[in-house]
Amino acid sequence: MPTPRIGVLSVQGGFAEHTDMLRNLGADPTPVRRLDHLQRLDGLVIPGGESTTISRLLDLSGMLEPLRELIAAGLPTFGTCAGLIMLATDVLDTRPDAHSLGALDISVRRNAFGRQVNSFETTLNMAHVAEDTEAVFIRAPRVERVGESVEELATLPDGTVVAVQSGVVLGTSFHPELTGDDRIHRYFLSLVEQSR
Ligand code: GLN
Repeated sequence: MPTPRIGVLSVQGGFAEHTDMLRNLGADPTPVRRLDHLQRLDGLVIPGGESTTISRLLDLSGMLEPLRELIAAGLPTFGTCAGLIMLATDVLDTRPDAHSLGALDISVRRNAFGRQVNSFETTLNMAHVAEDTEAVFIRAPRVERVGESVEELATLPDGTVVAVQSGVVLGTSFHPELTGDDRIHRYFLSLVEQSR
């Protein structure tokens, strides 16, 4: 099969690290900045950053509705941190004018880990991936409700859900792309292959 072409939403945030990781895994990452960049993708990554800014830029560029439609039609998509927020149906503690793509039936609360622990690193037992997956949390969102269509893939020791999947849509509260651990990206690429 030809190399999978993975769009990396590159309007704001940590797109460079995802691009590097995908390229190192043999995929063909391509930046998505405008509407016409949404053509002929085999998958899509939505990086971390600032979800309200990503939302505004998707709106301004006219990509919001086409992206909703593409993901609803089965485009494999992986969102990290702000990317997870963008994929959720319900976002708590956000701006009233912020939009999301509604691809994962979950409620997420932005910046929910408190000030002292704005940033931390841990290893997680993640279903389908590894028992010791590396995870970096930076002003991370907390998943507070998980719908029936959504599988919980990883939790923190206190039970907080931090990785979810629904069909070929994958989301993590944390940043795997900031670690040397590419196994979640490998798993995502396996979902892309399956759906081709
Ligand atoms: N706090 C950011 C938001 O609400 C997410 C942080 C991140 O992506 N690292 O969008």
